[in-house]
Amino acid sequence: MKPQEIRRNPLDNVISLDAGSAVRATEFGRRAWKLARLSALGLPVPPGFALSFECVHGLSESGAMPDLAGIDAPGRLLALRSSPLERDWGGPATLRCIGVCEQSLPALAARIGPSASLDIYRRFIGEFAMTVHGLNPDDFAALDPVAASSSDAAALRGLIDRMLDFYREEVGEDFPQDQAVQLELAARAMAKSWDSTSAKILRAAKGAPMDAGMGLIVQEVVSGIGTGITGRGEIQFVDSKTGKPGIFGGFRMIDPEKPSRVTALPIVGGADGGTTFEHLCPDSVRELRRAASRASEGLSDVYCLVFAMRSGQVAVLDALPVERSARAAVQISVDLAKAGAISRNRAILQVDPRSLIEFLHPQIAADTPRDVFSTGLAASPGAASGKIVFTAEDAQTAAAQDEASILVRAETGPEDIRGMHSAHGVLTVRGGMTSHAAVIARGIGLPCVVGASDLRIDFAGRVLRTSDGRVFSEGAVITLDGTRGEVIAGAVKMVSQDLGGSFSELLDWADTVRDLGVRANADTPDDARTAREFRVDGIGLCRTEHMFFDRSRISVMREMILADAETERQAALDRLLPMQRADFSEIFEIMRGLPVTIRLLDPPLHEFLPTTPEEVVEFALAMGLPEAQITSRMSELAEINPMLGMRGVRLGVAMPSIYDMQARAIFEAAIEVNRGSRAPVVPEIMIPLVSANREVELVKRRVDAIAEDVQREQGVSLEYKLGVMVETPRAALRAGDLAATSAFLSFGTNDLTQMTYGLSRDDAGRFMRVYVNEGVFPEDPFRSLDVEGVGELMLIASQRGRAQNPGLMLSLCGEHGGDPSSIRFCKVASFDYVSCSPFRIPIARLAAAQATLLSRGTATRAAETK
Ligand code: PEP
Ligand code: MG
Repeated sequence: MKPQEIRRNPLDNVISLDAGSAVRATEFGRRAWKLARLSALGLPVPPGFALSFECVHGLSESGAMPDLAGIDAPGRLLALRSSPLERDWGGPATLRCIGVCEQSLPALAARIGPSASLDIYRRFIGEFAMTVHGLNPDDFAALDPVAASSSDAAALRGLIDRMLDFYREEVGEDFPQDQAVQLELAARAMAKSWDSTSAKILRAAKGAPMDAGMGLIVQEVVSGIGTGITGRGEIQFVDSKTGKPGIFGGFRMIDPEKPSRVTALPIVGGADGGTTFEHLCPDSVRELRRAASRASEGLSDVYCLVFAMRSGQVAVLDALPVERSARAAVQISVDLAKAGAISRNRAILQVDPRSLIEFLHPQIAADTPRDVFSTGLAASPGAASGKIVFTAEDAQTAAAQDEASILVRAETGPEDIRGMHSAHGVLTVRGGMTSHAAVIARGIGLPCVVGASDLRIDFAGRVLRTSDGRVFSEGAVITLDGTRGEVIAGAVKMVSQDLGGSFSELLDWADTVRDLGVRANADTPDDARTAREFRVDGIGLCRTEHMFFDRSRISVMREMILADAETERQAALDRLLPMQRADFSEIFEIMRGLPVTIRLLDPPLHEFLPTTPEEVVEFALAMGLPEAQITSRMSELAEINPMLGMRGVRLGVAMPSIYDMQARAIFEAAIEVNRGSRAPVVPEIMIPLVSANREVELVKRRVDAIAEDVQREQGVSLEYKLGVMVETPRAALRAGDLAATSAFLSFGTNDLTQMTYGLSRDDAGRFMRVYVNEGVFPEDPFRSLDVEGVGELMLIASQRGRAQNPGLMLSLCGEHGGDPSSIRFCKVASFDYVSCSPFRIPIARLAAAQATLLSRGTATRAAETK
């Protein structure tokens, strides 16, 4: 066959595979398109033709077989392969060796020997009968199993004669003895099977339209028809797990005497030092390497080549994008960009930002079996194994003894923070994506599963029970997969984190592209250091309440809360002032030269008080106070609905001395750190839970007065900004007023989501899975921003705010700040930055770069992608 002589037939329904870009995927299918591209790149693709979708559909409707002049050269065997638009839409299995029949046998026997040719004929009859008539090929072999597996020509001839009789009996006509007839019958049968109702339903489940077309490819058969080394294999030159270079794959070597007999060989380095394909055909491996790199340059990806060998010659049958883990995907994109096969922008666009999680935390190795005994919400990614502990104190004890522990709680509270720092993972029975455990775990990079509501903790018996009766005692080793939300019995194999190499290179490229800032939600110096290591643009939210839960401070904080008289309260605040100042100085020092946003105290005061009767006794003894005084103050502070009670700015208005102390600590720390510094800190003070501008005016007046006092006392001037968190629907609607008094608005989307839906962020985990499964929510709105509702409020607020104050800085600092689709929303809404947990900064940097590139429009995108 000389395919180049036949470009297209007059009906445009058949095209030669060497016709280059004329072979379009939308007309002839993805496989035909790929083979034509490979052929144009100079890869040794066996000659052949592609039949269009239209032609194949015509065949299924009893249309005519197109003219394939030149394809039926004597002695040539053909393969018929499907070519749908998308590979995973399926299609009938390939039929090989079309053309073998009584008349062609002698020529074939002359090439490969009598018994090999008869073995091919025998197999083809069964496969043809299956493709065309739906018969079972095993029924043919079963006519004489001994002969079927022998290489004795006489035995095979006898079997074939019986098979031909069986075929006639089953089908009602003779086995076709003409290649053109065989080809037409097979093509028609494949076309009909593609158009069958069951095939349509199956592929519709994979996203294919009901009328999706399929092309067919008629190609010369290469493997198994020759002398010397013959067979089929797959080879790739990158590791699917790491993306690093190497040689991987396998080869099924066909016995030239008995083509249905196959020996599997690794391409390289068999574990037992046995024969490999590379030992047998070193030149072919070199040729395939050249072919793979040409495919990679020409098709902008890395490929696994499906190849065949005939008489020592390589032929490429297909090229499939290499399967890849998330880590390998990053490595491959960076390598392709460095090799010039794709642009850097395309490398940035083609990595899923969420996949970077795999680099940031240890993960469970892909091939490890998992004994999953419970599932919950995947609240903080990464995996950890450790022994079960039920209290924060036990987690600290385990850490002191160098033992890994998993802290298991019904839910966590501020008193558990130290234990969380000591544990290797946290599991809670209750809670949602913005519950205490979830927020803290994400902040410190701790694997965490929350809302595992099928578990019961028996604190008295110190055991954890599953709904199906399994029992895990304190001390039993379990593993948390915070990326998937799974709880697993025992310890499993892990892959460690990896922050260098291609990961940091890709993020450097992302930083040169993005025009949306990424800041960190960092509450402690440790958080700030982690954030800096992840190359953040500043701190967008420092939640000051976390600073008070330290053992040395909580008692002073409690004294302040329990104080009856203002003088006593002030005395406690005076003791807290240097502690706060020291916190802020350290954070400012770490973040030198970068903006730091500090949020004034937000939670209701009762959260700082002892929770259990034992703690009340302990605290009363330490303070020298009657227990009754403590419990009575506790009941004074108790609220029916604390999340909507005396918290945030309400605290600042009702008890202004707390915010006064915090403002003074911020200003004094900034002045101290700025002394002699060429990169002065510009502190940004943020007021939480605002709903009316009058609240802001009241706080602002006091904060400005304190700033003046401190500057006068210290004899230096200081630049600072005062802004507001938009966390209530009213604040969003009145953003125009707020913008008159504020330098910035930062959307606290955790509370804003809670209040917009009227959905408790701490309890939603109980029914979130049902709600998402039932399609009430497309996604957990605490994980991915509800663009339709919460998003609309944010757009209204940003428009009203910027109309009043065009220089108004806008940002988002809820947990959505680390979610790629929420980040895209922020870019579209012209925000200045997003702020997220330190361990989500790399995800946010990449997502921000993608959002920037996508916002530049398709024209630019097309130019940037090679
Ligand atoms: C928020 O509500 O989005 C927020 C950042 O504040 P917090 O989570 O501390 O309530
Ligand atoms: Mg909030």
